[in-house]
Amino acid sequence: MMEVQITCLSCGSSIECLPDQHAHKAECGVCKNIQEVKFTPLHEEGILKDCPVCNRQDFYKQKDFNRKIGVLLFVIAAILSIWTYGMSLVVLYLVDLFLFKKLAMVAICYKCRTNFRRVKNMDEIRDYDHEMNDRIVYSDHDFKGKPLSH
Ligand SMILES: [Zn+2]
Ligand SMILES: [Zn+2]
Repeated sequence: MMEVQITCLSCGSSIECLPDQHAHKAECGVCKNIQEVKFTPLHEEGILKDCPVCNRQDFYKQKDFNRKIGVLLFVIAAILSIWTYGMSLVVLYLVDLFLFKKLAMVAICYKCRTNFRRVKNMDEIRDYDHEMNDRIVYSDHDFKGKPLSH
């Protein structure tokens, strides 16, 4: 199932939740601020079209750097490389290339920075665009899911 990580508007903590179309509120575990959410059956299927927090349709994807397992693997590989003459780092690089690049992508809402993991239609989500980000964040422009056109 798609994993949703909302950024609390009042304290900036992350609120983890799973899509449920009957849930309309997510409570911050730190400051108890209530965040309105709007999940649809599509979200429950892991398809990301609208943001459940701000209703925008503009997302970008990036490699999921937050995965602690990646860091742990790197530490193990670095230690092993002393005995394997760097081979373990090569193996790690290959694992990273094939596994993490494909699987561990995270989709992020430009507007409210909600993170979505295990998104089925990740292929439809484009890479980060600096200009789109500036226009959404600073000018409150709504691209409605369309790519930037010049
Ligand atoms: Zn909070
Ligand atoms: Zn959003």
